[in-house]
Amino acid sequence: MTRVHIVGAGLAGLACAVALARRGIAVSLYEAAGQAGGRCRSYHDARLGCLVDNGNHILLSANRTALSYLEEIGARDSLTGPAEAVFPFYDLRSGAHWVLRPNAGRLPWWIFCAARRVPDSRPGGYLAALRLAGAARDATVADCLDPSDPLWERFWEPLTVAALNTNPQEASARLLWLVLRETFGRGGAACRPLIAREGLGPSFVEPALALLRRAGAEVRFNRRLRSVEFAGDRAVQMSFGDEAVGLGAADFMVLAVPPAAAVELLPGLQAPDEMRPIVNAHIRLPEPPRMPPGMSAALPLLGLVGGLGQWLLLRGPVASLTVSAAAAAVEEPVEALAERLWAETAQSLGLAPAPAPPVRVVKERRATFAQTPAALDRRPPARTAWRNLALAGDWTDTGYPATIESAVRSGRAAAQLVTTI
Ligand SMILES: Cc1cc2nc3c(=O)[nH]c(=O)nc-3n(C[C@H](O)[C@H](O)[C@H](O)COP(=O)(O)OP(=O)(O)OC[C@H]3O[C@@H](n4cnc5c(N)ncnc54)[C@H](O)[C@@H]3O)c2cc1C
Repeated sequence: MTRVHIVGAGLAGLACAVALARRGIAVSLYEAAGQAGGRCRSYHDARLGCLVDNGNHILLSANRTALSYLEEIGARDSLTGPAEAVFPFYDLRSGAHWVLRPNAGRLPWWIFCAARRVPDSRPGGYLAALRLAGAARDATVADCLDPSDPLWERFWEPLTVAALNTNPQEASARLLWLVLRETFGRGGAACRPLIAREGLGPSFVEPALALLRRAGAEVRFNRRLRSVEFAGDRAVQMSFGDEAVGLGAADFMVLAVPPAAAVELLPGLQAPDEMRPIVNAHIRLPEPPRMPPGMSAALPLLGLVGGLGQWLLLRGPVASLTVSAAAAAVEEPVEALAERLWAETAQSLGLAPAPAPPVRVVKERRATFAQTPAALDRRPPARTAWRNLALAGDWTDTGYPATIESAVRSGRAAAQLVTTI
C-alpha cells in the first residue's frame, strides 16, 4: 500500500497531508520543530499572558484555495472580516484618516468617487496599474509606476510591501499585476480582508492536525530531515539523524520545507535564494482603544503610512503591528523597536503614550523569499527529477506571491501529482 511521507508541517505540508488523508491515502508527516504551522503559527506568550501569532496574517476573499482548505478542515467560520471591502488608513505624519472602499462589482467606479479613494488622488493614478500589465519580465514595480504620484506613498507602496514583502524598487511588476488582477480586478467582492478570529493556530493548524489524527495519519514533531538517499530516478531513504526511514516501491515523498532547506537536501535544485524579513510587535494594551474611523469589531485592522508600522490588528487586549520588507528594522534592537512601535500604536489608537505596556517583538528574518523578477525564474515546479518525490512550499512555482494561498496551492498540487503518477 502506498504511503506518502511529507516533510515539513507548515501550511504547504498540512494542505498536502489533508488532501491525501481525505482520499484515504496513508500519510506520515515529519516536522523539525516541536509544533506545526511553520511561518504561520500561534504560541502562548508568557510576557503578554495570552496566545499570539508569529505575525499578523491577512487573507483576502480572493484567496479561494486557502478558503477551501479552511472549509476542508472545518475552520471556515474561524475567520472574521467585514461584509464589504473596507480598508481604513491613518497617516502618522499628517494625522489624516481615510477609508479605501472599492465597490463590489468588477467595474471599478470607486476610483471616480472621492469618498472611496485615497484623499487628493485622481482616477488616473489607479489606472496607471495597467502599466504593470504590460511590464517586461525583468521590470520592477518602481519601473512602471511614478514614485512622485500622491498615490505612491498611500497606495502603491503599502500594497506592494503588503502583497510581496518586497520594496517596490525591487519587487516584480508582473507579480504585483497578478495580485491586482485577482483582487481589485475582480472587484471589491474579491478584496474583503479576512483575519483569524482567535489566531493562526486555531484557524489553520489545529483543525488540520485534528483531521489528520482522525484519519489515522502519523504526525511526528522534532524530526528534522538530514539527508535523502537516491537510487536511479527514485528517492529510497530519508535520514533523520538517529532514524532512517526507507521508501518502499509504492511510496512517495513530498518535501514541503523552506527553499534553503530544500536546496541542502536535493542536489542541483534551483530555488529562490534571497529572503526578506517581517517584524511584528504585539502589545498588551493598558485600556480599550478608541477605534479610528472605519475600524470596527468586524474589521479590527488599520493601515498606517508615514511611520515604521504598516498594519495594526486588534485582537482582544492585544494590538499587533506589522513591518513588512523589514530589512532595516530587523537589525534594530528589540527594545528600540518596541518603543517606536508602541508610540505609533498609542498615537493611532488615541492612547496615553506612558507608561509603556508589555510588548513582544517577533523578528521573522526569513518571512518570504524576495519577490524580485530574478527570483521568479528560480521557482521550481512540484515535479522533480525523481519519480517519487514532489516539492511543495509557498516558494515553488504556484504563480502566486509567497502567501498562505501559495502554500496551500503548492500542497494540493503536490498531492495531485502523487495521486496521478
Ligand atoms: C510574519 C509573517 C507574516 C505573514 N503575513 C502573511 C499574510 O498576511 N498573508 C499571507 O497570505 N501570508 C503571509 N505570510 C506568509 C505565510 O506565512 C507563508 O507563505 C506560509 O506560511 C508558508 O508556508 P509553507 O508551508 O510554504 O512554509 P513554512 O511555513 O516555512 O513550512 C515549512 C516547515 O518545514 C519545517 N522544516 C524545515 N526544514 C525541515 C527539515 N529539514 N525537516 C523537517 N521539517 C523541516 C519548518 O520547521 C516548517 O514548519 C507571512 C509570513 C510571516 C513570517
